[in-house]
Amino acid sequence: MARFGTLRLAGVSRSFGRHAALRDLWLDIRGGEFVALLGPSGCGKSTALNCLAGLLPLTGGTISLDGERVDSVAPERRGFGMVFQNYALFPHLTVRGNVGFGLRMAKVPRAELVRRTDRALELVHLTDHAHKRPGQLSGGQQQRVAIARAIVLEPRLVLMDEPLSNLDAALRLEMRTEIRRLHQSLGLTTVYVTHDQEEALSLADRLVVLRDGTTQQIGTPEEIYGHPVNRYVASFMGYRNMLDVTVTEVREGRLALLLADANPVGTDRGPLTRGARGIAALRPEDLDLAEPGAPGRIPARIEVVEYHGRELAVQARLRDGQPVHFLTAHRVAPGAEVELTAAPDRMLVFAPDTPVDQPSAPSRAGSAAGSGAVAP
Ligand code: ATP
Repeated sequence: MARFGTLRLAGVSRSFGRHAALRDLWLDIRGGEFVALLGPSGCGKSTALNCLAGLLPLTGGTISLDGERVDSVAPERRGFGMVFQNYALFPHLTVRGNVGFGLRMAKVPRAELVRRTDRALELVHLTDHAHKRPGQLSGGQQQRVAIARAIVLEPRLVLMDEPLSNLDAALRLEMRTEIRRLHQSLGLTTVYVTHDQEEALSLADRLVVLRDGTTQQIGTPEEIYGHPVNRYVASFMGYRNMLDVTVTEVREGRLALLLADANPVGTDRGPLTRGARGIAALRPEDLDLAEPGAPGRIPARIEVVEYHGRELAVQARLRDGQPVHFLTAHRVAPGAEVELTAAPDRMLVFAPDTPVDQPSAPSRAGSAAGSGAVAP
């Protein structure tokens, strides 16, 4: 598979009339990397992908491949492969016909066409289904055909737009592993669009979190999951509890807090000063019943208990009326008075007015060297 050094998106923007669907995206994608564009519906992920593919002209910025501009190159001449959500297979062609279609168009000699098509079918485990038509296949098998059709062309870059969203949960998991396997074994470079944070975290080497067309954070799964730069990224990454707190003391990044009538300790993501109000972001899995005598215990009354297999998902209410959600392996019942605790480094305290929609500074934010935060 042809490898490039760096694909650089420099201030890539796309507007539709006065609506900025994508603003000032700076990102360096290294050859062999798996990058996920992540965000809710309408955040501009597909716009970014279509700009990369050449299906949408840019209204600002440039895209270059190892220093050469590609943003004015026609889509079919960029050497990129696309896999769409709806597969877009030809219903009248067999699986083999669909997979070999691009090679036929490119007038690849017959023997080579057969060899490459066979190999692509093998890679996606469809050799035994080569004679069937798409209508005779399951959703997962059709998605495999779409993937084989893209990789058979040995693209420099594979672009995938929510390729698993039409599959059921079990198949999605299976195909996720399959996509990662193909990416690794073929040394592909992949840009993958999804609104599913778990999918993005499990597949990608780096994630770009978008909101309203604006880059919020670029980083590795560990960085995005463990160190979200603002409340928006935190809530998108599963920090379901956003609790009003007051800072009572500041010490080297740790904050003593007043939360309802309790005094837990959190980690400063503000920065915040003594007396400031803040929002403590906390995942349900990082909050649990406290051991007797543990410091910073938070009193709460259990309201709703849901059975989730090994754990119970619990909604409780703090003394000041704020709801909290937590997961526990302990048996609890509605109405019970309990005390909760969270590790200080899991309770991230943001300033309440943290701006979450500033354009990313043109600081080469997603450069090969830097993969850190781009929004305050
Ligand atoms: P989804 O997951 O729903 O596909 P997305 O994050 O991929 O969402 P985009 O499709 O990139 O979002 O759209 C970003 C914004 O641009 C949206 O507000 C959308 O309404 C707008 N938009 C996209 N395409 C067009 C278009 N052709 N004309 C006008 N507005 C558009």
